[in-house]
Amino acid sequence: MSGAARLERRPDLHALRGYHSPQLDVEVRLNTNESPYPPPPAFVRAWLDALSQVPLNRYPDRGAHALRTALAHMLGRTSGEVFCANGSNEVLQTLLLAFGGPGRRALLFEPTYTLHAHVARLTGTSVAAVSRADDFTLDPDVVGESIRRLSPQIVFLCSPNNPSGTVDDPAVAQAALDALAAGSPGLLVVDEAYGEFARSSALTLRSDALVVVRTYSKVWSLAALRLGYCVAPEWVVAEMEDVALPYHLDAATQAAGLLALNYVPEMEARVAELMEERERLFVTLNETSGITVFPSGANFLLFRVDEDGHEVWGSLADRGVLIRDFSGQPGLEGCVRVTVGTRSENDAFLTALGEALAEAGTREDGRS
Ligand SMILES: *Cc1c(COP(=O)(O)O)cnc(C)c1O
Repeated sequence: MSGAARLERRPDLHALRGYHSPQLDVEVRLNTNESPYPPPPAFVRAWLDALSQVPLNRYPDRGAHALRTALAHMLGRTSGEVFCANGSNEVLQTLLLAFGGPGRRALLFEPTYTLHAHVARLTGTSVAAVSRADDFTLDPDVVGESIRRLSPQIVFLCSPNNPSGTVDDPAVAQAALDALAAGSPGLLVVDEAYGEFARSSALTLRSDALVVVRTYSKVWSLAALRLGYCVAPEWVVAEMEDVALPYHLDAATQAAGLLALNYVPEMEARVAELMEERERLFVTLNETSGITVFPSGANFLLFRVDEDGHEVWGSLADRGVLIRDFSGQPGLEGCVRVTVGTRSENDAFLTALGEALAEAGTREDGRS
């Protein structure tokens, strides 16, 4: 080995850790909010047919025109108001590349999706975090006041919020837009990765400073595809196009995103089924002693256990049910999150949880 020193990473990223969601090889995986259902077989066949027609020697349509036009049609917008990328995570990264960066600030309301702060830091954007209330709701006055005080260029909202499931009152986004309009220029970015599971959406608001981000990863059962999009004013989309890498969205992904839109009723049926299961899980957890479950407008439920959250998580994993442990994170003490699965997966989760809580209770008794 040569004695030459290795190049260190960018100094401003010195303390940054990669974004990870722990995976274990277990039977029931309810930890990353994917759909438990595959997309319709007819969709997969149509996609494979379309793929066989793709001229692979040519670059894909750089502007993803067919896909954007179809999404715009579905949403009642123009194609110039839609930007598509490899997952909504790349949409967020592109937004921050264009509008964040050194000397600029992103505001977010924690606990929330940690990727927002992560992508901000990656792009050299400073992060200001304000706490949500103990029940994870957001007060419109707090949002407006925070914006006036911190003058952020980017304000993140997440509704339904991951990991709490909280759906913001429509007044929250409006308060943010009002505060931005009254202060120095900024954008409101509403992450609606779970928007189709909720009853309200920021898409009903109209503003020259509003970006609504959605994804194919959850409701469309296409997490493996990596496709997300945002609905934004045309001037915002134009700026994003300037900073996105050329041909970033491959032909296979564009074709899948377009064809998936022919299966809206199937998507809505899956969403309705998961919402029913969410209600069933909520009622059961709500009746379970030693648990506080939070209302959710998404395909997951966050709950706090009186016992040690990490131990309960591990005890479930030992029983072949993987959920997500948030108990070590600030503001989420004792909390774990379960993704709504199929009926039988949810039953397996409830059984395992009952056993895990009983076991934890026994241990507790033994100690006292
Ligand atoms: C799952 C999730 C996403 C999805 O990201 P993709 O890159 O589209 O898979 C985005 N935002 C939130 C809040 C999520 O929970």
